[in-house]
Formats: sequence, structure tokens, C-alpha cells
Amino acid sequence: MARIKLAFVVFAIMVIAAWLLSINVSLLTGNFWSVRGLLVLLTGILAIAFMSAAILLAARPVQIEEALGGLDKFYRLHKWLGIAAVTTAVLHWLSEKAPKWLVQLGWLERPKRSPNVGAEPPPLESYRDLAVDLGEWAFYLLLVLAALALWRRFPYHLFFKTHRLMALVFLVLCFHAVALIPSSYWSAPIGWLLVALLGAAAIAAGLSIFGRIGNSQRFTGEVTDFHFHEANSVLNVGVKLTTAWPGHAAGQFAFLKFADGEQAHPFTISSGWANTGRLAFSIKGLGDYTRRLPTMIKVGQPVTVEGPYGRFDFGSSTGAQLWIAGGVGITPFLARMEAIALSGQKQDVDLIYSTGAADDGFIDQVRSAVSASGVRLRVVDTGQEGLVDLTKVARWVPHWREADVWFCGPAKFGDSLFQAMRKDGLPDHRFHRELFDMR
Ligand SMILES: Cc1cc2nc3c(=O)[nH]c(=O)nc-3n(C[C@H](O)[C@H](O)[C@H](O)COP(=O)(O)OP(=O)(O)OC[C@H]3O[C@@H](n4cnc5c(N)ncnc54)[C@H](O)[C@@H]3O)c2cc1C
Repeated sequence: MARIKLAFVVFAIMVIAAWLLSINVSLLTGNFWSVRGLLVLLTGILAIAFMSAAILLAARPVQIEEALGGLDKFYRLHKWLGIAAVTTAVLHWLSEKAPKWLVQLGWLERPKRSPNVGAEPPPLESYRDLAVDLGEWAFYLLLVLAALALWRRFPYHLFFKTHRLMALVFLVLCFHAVALIPSSYWSAPIGWLLVALLGAAAIAAGLSIFGRIGNSQRFTGEVTDFHFHEANSVLNVGVKLTTAWPGHAAGQFAFLKFADGEQAHPFTISSGWANTGRLAFSIKGLGDYTRRLPTMIKVGQPVTVEGPYGRFDFGSSTGAQLWIAGGVGITPFLARMEAIALSGQKQDVDLIYSTGAADDGFIDQVRSAVSASGVRLRVVDTGQEGLVDLTKVARWVPHWREADVWFCGPAKFGDSLFQAMRKDGLPDHRFHRELFDMR
């Protein structure tokens, strides 16, 4: 998380710095109307820059996964950038409208002449009115789409469809920006930055509109076997790939699609990679689709697998590790145990598997992975032993402070452990977690 916080701050500072280098800074101490003119430009530029960066991340550029810590993390950054884009767009709209309302109310004097914010007219001056009107309507649509994205009760499959409209909204706002940003900006640092950002984001928006995001990472296969564990509602699915898979590191995930027209859902690959074309997944019934899947799936059914993504890869360290899994969060650890067993190496690992719905068959699967890998296991049935907290962890694994902690499970469980461990002196970078929620 530290990396994406840093990326967000650095990006915002970079845009503001490029803008400051491009304006006549003496106007910042000018009268109300000249400062307001600058504010309209700054907030507008920040809004379109944040939105461009958010759209770029939505195109899943795997090349920057390493730098940002994995696709799950940069979807979180995408969300923050989206919120920042909407917030600055609201400020842009207010700084444009509010002074006019104050003039109408007679609380503010109309400027004698159009304030000169140190800029020549924009290059597309003749499209000005169209750009203003389209920009205003796109802004209202942006507010609605953002509200739907943040409203957790709005079903994911509908959010997924409405959210794709963001690409169109972005293209309209690009036109608004290009038509209204003053000419002088385009030959200054902010102009160069915007050309690069808007150009790349427009390509990403096009990929999204034509459904081509992730195309180069897409492979096909078929279902070879499946087994449904009723007690914990986990469906184990085996897949044999029919196109060449680049291989994956234990802990990575893929988007699976079992039928055309269906949405791809992200699931951790719960098997290690042995170059056999075989992948395994453990899928918990957590929503409409995943609850229906056990009744729909068939052996021989074609599957599209998009991936691998993610950097929950257990680092390169061979030092002590403490793994904590909540429910179906056990999946990356299953993959890692298979990888350790395949490599024949030994690693000093304690695994705490906490489950609220203990399923004997599933626990046997975990135990057999444990015995093949030499990992030390503690299964916690939270129905009988209560929730896992740091006091219990410290009792079961007294040397936990010397270990790197890898957590996968419900967000609240992860948050409370992270806070408790941090309070107890564990440096943030030694607590690694997979974010199971992309919204
Ligand atoms: C990196 C990652 C790894 C995951 N690994 C596993 C795993 O190994 N096993 C497992 O059981 N679950 C895993 N999940 C969670 C799993 O993706 C969701 O439980 C599943 O998509 C729910 O789909 P649904 O339509 O049944 O539920 P819904 O009720 O429609 O959605 C519940 C939540 O699931 C997420 N979700 C739903 N559809 C999508 C989608 N198309 N794309 C992205 N997120 C979506 C959203 O956060 C949504 O709020 C993982 C999630 C992520 C992000």
C-alpha cells in the first residue's frame, strides 16, 4: 500500500509542478478574478490528469505491476485516482459556477473585462460553446457513474457495465480540455505532460470501449474436473490449458470466464506451475455468480483464462514466514505449498488457516499440501475457538516478529491484524497482503 500511496502523491505533485512551471506565477497574487481563472484551469487540469491515470490503470498494463505491487494494488490506486478526479472536477465546476452565482446575487462585482490569466485563446476557440456544454453534461454523468461505483449495494455485474461508460465520458472530457486549455500551455511542461497522458489514456479508453483490455494475456483451456465442498461452499476446479501459458508464480491470479458473454472473475491460481498446462482454482460462493457456478460447470467446458497477474509472490526471501489465511484466502498458500514441494526446497513457514465453515474434505486437501511442503499448520475453527487476533497468533507462533507476514482473507481481518502487528513494532513492508476486492 505504501507504494501506491507514494505513486498517488508523486503523480499529483508532478501535475501541479508542471502547471506552476507553465503559468505566469505573478497572477497568483492578482485580484479575485485572475486567481479564480487560474483555479478553474488548475482544477480542470488535475481532474483530467487524474482521470487519464485512472483509465490507464484500468487497461491493466502488466509492465508496471512490479513497480506498483500487483494488479490488485493498482486497482486500488485506480479507485483513489477516480475519487480524486471526481473531487477536483467538482471543484472545477464550483470555481467556474460559484462566482457567477455570487454576481447574480449581487454579492460580487462583475469583472470590468475578461480576466487575463496569462494565456492566449485556446486552439479550438470556435468549438468553445460546444466544449463547455458537452463538458458540463459529461461532468453530470461522471457524478452519477462515480456514485454507482462507490455505492456498494449496486450489484457488481451492473457496476461493471455502467463503469465502462467512463471511457466515453473521458473522451468527451478530453475534447472539453483540449478545446478550452489556453494555447500557451501546449508549448509548456503542463502541455507536454497532458499530451502524453491524454494520448495514452485515449488509447486505453478505446481498448475498453471495444472490449480489448487484457487481450494479450488471454488463454484458452477446458475444465478437466471439479468438486464442490458443501460445508464451506468452495468449488475446486481443474483446468487444462489448450494454448501456451507463460507460467505463473505461486500466489498470482487470473480472470476466469466459463462462457461467452459472461463477465470474467478474478481467482487466485491455487496450484503451482509444473509446465503441464494444468491450473487449479478454489472458488467460494460469495455472490450470485460464484454461488451458481457449481450447478453450471461441466467437465470439458471451455474456459478463458486471463493472466497471470499479481505480485503476492512470497518474495525471494528464504527467511521465516508467517502465513495467515482467512477462509478461501487459503488459495495462494495452496499454490505456494505446491511450488515448495515441486522445488524440493525447505522453507521456515507457519501457516494459520482460519475458517468459519470447517469442511473436513477441504481441510484434508490443505493438510496434504502441508505435509508435502513441510510447512507447520494450525487450523482454527472460528466457530469453536473464536476469531484469530494477534494475542492468539503470538501464542501459536512466538517468533512471529522475526517472520515476514503474508496475509490473504477478509479485509477487516487483515486490517485488524495489520494494525495490531504495526503497533507491536512490525515494519509495514513486512506485512504483505492480497486485496480481494477490486471495487
Ligand atoms: C486478486 C483476487 C483474487 C481472488 N481470489 C479468489 C479465490 O481464489 N477464490 C475465491 O473464491 N475468490 C477469490 N476472489 C474473490 C472473487 O473474485 C469474488 O468473490 C467473485 O468475483 C464474486 O463474484 P460474484 O459475481 O459471485 O459476486 P458478486 O456479489 O457479484 O460480487 C461480490 C464482490 O466480488 C467482486 N467481484 C465480482 N465480480 C467481479 C469481477 N468480474 N471482477 C472483479 N471483481 C469482482 C467485487 O468486489 C464484488 O463486490 C479474488 C478476488 C481478487 C480481486
